[in-house]
Amino acid sequence: MNTKTIVIIGGGVGGLTVANELRSKLPHEHRVVLVEKNPNHAFAPSFLWLMTGHRQPNKITKPVLSLVRPGVEVLQAEATTIDIANRSVITTQRSLTYDYLVVALGAELAPEIIPGLSQAALSFYTFEETKRLHQALGEFNGGKVAVVVCSLPYKCPGAPHEGAMLIADYFRQRGLRDKVNIHLYTPEPQPMPVAGPQLGEAVKQMLASKGISFHPLHTLKSVDSQERRLLFDQQEPVTYNMLIAIPPHRGSSLVREANLTNEAGWIPVDRSTLKTKFGNLYAIGDIISIGIPGRWKPDVSMMLPKAGVFAHAQAEIVAERIADEIHGRTPTAEFCGKGYCMLEAGEGLAGFAFGDFFAEPSPRLELRNIGRAWHLGKVLFEQWWLSPFGIRKSVLHTALRLGAKVLKIPVTV
Ligand SMILES: Cc1cc2nc3c(=O)[nH]c(=O)nc-3n(C[C@H](O)[C@H](O)[C@H](O)COP(=O)(O)OP(=O)(O)OC[C@H]3O[C@@H](n4cnc5c(N)ncnc54)[C@H](O)[C@@H]3O)c2cc1C
Repeated sequence: MNTKTIVIIGGGVGGLTVANELRSKLPHEHRVVLVEKNPNHAFAPSFLWLMTGHRQPNKITKPVLSLVRPGVEVLQAEATTIDIANRSVITTQRSLTYDYLVVALGAELAPEIIPGLSQAALSFYTFEETKRLHQALGEFNGGKVAVVVCSLPYKCPGAPHEGAMLIADYFRQRGLRDKVNIHLYTPEPQPMPVAGPQLGEAVKQMLASKGISFHPLHTLKSVDSQERRLLFDQQEPVTYNMLIAIPPHRGSSLVREANLTNEAGWIPVDRSTLKTKFGNLYAIGDIISIGIPGRWKPDVSMMLPKAGVFAHAQAEIVAERIADEIHGRTPTAEFCGKGYCMLEAGEGLAGFAFGDFFAEPSPRLELRNIGRAWHLGKVLFEQWWLSPFGIRKSVLHTALRLGAKVLKIPVTV
């Protein structure tokens, strides 16, 4: 038999899914190798609950090894070079040659791009930063909290709004809500513009109902940490007592150096097959760029949001296509641009939106009323995702499938 090696770099949402799916679809003669630099996986949607103290750090991280199907080879190492000509990946441990490569490196955070930001800001965008933020919130007894989206694009377009609402809820529970002013600044013209005006208006109303001031069209230029001042492009400076940033995002230098990226530093792929310009090289998740019909201005294409729900769906498509090719079948699976978002609003409630992002002439959105079921759905997904691989096919799995069916959520688990 002509055995194949599939190397996946990045063992986050997309990488773990593609590795597990491939392992289930391919006989064991074929190797599935997952390269991940961290020994533990932290589930990013739970950072918001870690911030408010509703999760302990050890409840939202798991060893990568516990999350993979038996037979997936995990190499704990940092990938340092992609050598396309020789079909190899160089890592800090050893080099690997591949027949197929899946790049699932996610997006890097680059706070240093904005002068003063690193020294001044806290964040709920990484595990370590969120632990620090939780502690700082506990010591904060009043003043102005500025939640700032520094630049576009950023992962999970709902997260800054969820974060602001959960912070409001946190101070309400501590009896300090009237002593804390919460402001959300963003370069965008409305919340989540890619999802259209209807969703933007709904999110604005959710923020207003929590007493959060929303400031669109604010692009952060620098932070004066001495004076605690935010300096924006063409807007008045503002002061803050606590700064919480969604830092600038960028693609990994690894893919820039391999000449895989566009000018913005993301990997362009075929939106249906997730193939790059190299036939045996796929890319999925936050590192890719997929244009969608625009909303912001009629003639401007915007990118598909960077979200786990898309990384997950794309991983399944790529696994199916590679497995089909190896089995000598014509691959037919295609990514269709559909996804959903559960927006945490605090008080055990969440909103829900389902989007068809490839719909013409612009994405089609369905909104559901805010409710407890969406919050519980998010918790159930978290528990399923973080359970050891063997347990996934159990009661939790059945509950998630049934829940998704009852709530009419298009989830594949
Ligand atoms: C606060 C927050 C809340 C969120 N909430 C949601 C939500 O509710 N719903 C949703 O759909 N999405 C949500 N997201 C977004 C979601 O987490 C990401 O979109 C998703 O994780 C992207 O998956 P990925 O596989 O592309 O990248 P990641 O999951 O980021 O994985 C990338 C992996 O690559 C590894 N890596 C990087 N460089 C190297 C290297 N050189 N060598 C080896 N390994 C490397 C990293 O360690 C990481 O494990 C949220 C994100 C945040 C920050």
